[in-house]
Amino acid sequence: MRRIAAGNWKMNGTGAELGEIETLAARNTDSVEVVICPPATLLSRAADIAGPVLVGGQDCHAAESGAHTGDVSATMLKDAGASFVIVGHSERRADHGETDADIAAKAQAGLDAGLNVIICVGETLDEREAGRTLDVVGTQLAGSVPDSAASNTVVIAYEPVWAIGTGKVPSNDEIEEVHGHIRQLLTERFDTGAEMALLYGGSVKPSNAAEIFAVPHVNGALVGGASLKASDFGGIIDALN
Ligand code: PGA
Repeated sequence: MRRIAAGNWKMNGTGAELGEIETLAARNTDSVEVVICPPATLLSRAADIAGPVLVGGQDCHAAESGAHTGDVSATMLKDAGASFVIVGHSERRADHGETDADIAAKAQAGLDAGLNVIICVGETLDEREAGRTLDVVGTQLAGSVPDSAASNTVVIAYEPVWAIGTGKVPSNDEIEEVHGHIRQLLTERFDTGAEMALLYGGSVKPSNAAEIFAVPHVNGALVGGASLKASDFGGIIDALN
């Protein structure tokens, strides 16, 4: 089973922060895939200094090239040195109105470009309180994961929207319930579904990482705030290692 610590810098970071990646590059990350997804502006500089650390994009367009001002294609990410791309992050779903079908198309573009694709799913607080978590996650999974997905190229990240950047984390039982459901759905649908890595995301920190990684079917984390500093992210990598 793959184990992955992925950092999503979101819209943070200029050249001044590249030293954090250099620090991570100097660590021993043998048994864990460590990925940093900086802003697109830093990708090629990050890739040059990342050593064993992999770099990725935070989004891609579904088309390979064309009249899409401001967008970046998966092929361009690959060319800049990326080996991963995140698609369907809840901030993209909310801020840019991305649908499951949009996300499936972006994921397919990432796969076509030879990237590993991290596909994000997760419920809002209203949806959880209405008891709809498993339904919402199941629908997102069915719609956003392309049929061509396989365990060596696609990673699923479960990120409850209410846990992102809030310091709130679901209980271990809540994480286990959703990850178990995702595992079941993936196993039913894909030949390699039992081996697809499932990441938990939402307020993961060095102090709670070990406990979260002990939950069945949690194979790593997608980390926002705590990935910005190599010292914090290093603690999360150690907990997974
Ligand atoms: P957070 O973000 O770790 O800052 O909560 C997680 C994410 O959005 O991937």
